[in-house]
Amino acid sequence: MKPEKIELVDKTSLRLLWNDGKSSVFTLMNLRKFCPCATCEQERGEWSDTYIPLFMKSQITIREIRPVGSYAINLVWEDGHNTGIYEYAKLLLQKAWE
Ligand SMILES: [Zn+2]
Repeated sequence: MKPEKIELVDKTSLRLLWNDGKSSVFTLMNLRKFCPCATCEQERGEWSDTYIPLFMKSQITIREIRPVGSYAINLVWEDGHNTGIYEYAKLLLQKAWE
């Protein structure tokens, strides 16, 4: 499946309308918190159980959404972070991003 439409909803979430008519809504905070890039994955590995990450507004604001081939989107955040590739297959399954 791939999205036919990707839109920002009220600046805090992203909605993907899939080509089968279904839609998914993801929270920008969670998309950033669980950014799939290697750097963020490593950072998360270093969090302790009691650590609560805080994000600046620029880190949870999307500047640009770029399609990657026909399988993913690349989110560019307002703070310049642009290495997260969100695969459609994972977006369809990944509850952490909702
Ligand atoms: Zn990242």
